[in-house]
Amino acid sequence: LYVDAPLAAGGVVALGQDQAHYLKNVLRLGPGEGVALFNGRDGEWRAEIASVAKKSADLAVIEQTRPQRAEPDVWLAFAPIKRARIDFTAQKATELGASVLWPVMTRHTMVDRVNTERLRANAVEAAEQSDRLTVPDVREPAKLEALIEAWPADRALILADETGGPPIAEALSMHRERPMTRAGFLIGPEGGFAEPELDRLRKLPFVTRVSLGERLLRADTAALAVLAIWQALVGD
Ligand code: SAM
Repeated sequence: LYVDAPLAAGGVVALGQDQAHYLKNVLRLGPGEGVALFNGRDGEWRAEIASVAKKSADLAVIEQTRPQRAEPDVWLAFAPIKRARIDFTAQKATELGASVLWPVMTRHTMVDRVNTERLRANAVEAAEQSDRLTVPDVREPAKLEALIEAWPADRALILADETGGPPIAEALSMHRERPMTRAGFLIGPEGGFAEPELDRLRKLPFVTRVSLGERLLRADTAALAVLAIWQALVGD
């Protein structure tokens, strides 16, 4: 269970209505039963349910069961797509170890607003389900130009370019040989990147273009693919 609270032996964590309901009515747990907690900073802790009611629950924190481990540090910047599929992207990117999820608004992005609270909820649920000890940082949407300006100079921006580029495996294996620089992927919208956007991106020193093969993948498929390949070739 993810809690946004400090975790220390002897501490007490108070849960709100949703999580109390989950414990009481979904997991059907009662006082004295054990729960695993994580807050994204202090590893995993065993806690015991002190009390659980309809609208609240108190957990007594007992001991740390797993230390905080270094999580993979790969970012995913992606042009938002329609609701169900963006939720899918948030879940799969979390399962595949993304540390930052950053919606980026490009010229052909057909979605004009992103519910980041819902994305965060999807990421928390996926982190709990995939036994991660951290939850990705879901950023507020940025225009492509703002993302480029804010992108850290020491982080490779790997552009999934549907118009072509070296095969991703080749690009990432180069990364593996060199001391691993930090990296992030950029996935375009259903309508693809506009030509001026590709020109702008290709000229940037910290951008590496990669192809995901001959076939044209849907944006959510491409997001999942790049992170799965990263996990296989470079990840933890
Ligand atoms: N531009 C395409 C079109 O003409 O409809 C659609 C873009 S595709 C649906 C969405 C995004 O997925 C692309 O912008 C790119 O980032 C990524 N993508 C899809 N297929 C890819 C491939 N074969 N190689 C690299 N990136 C790909």
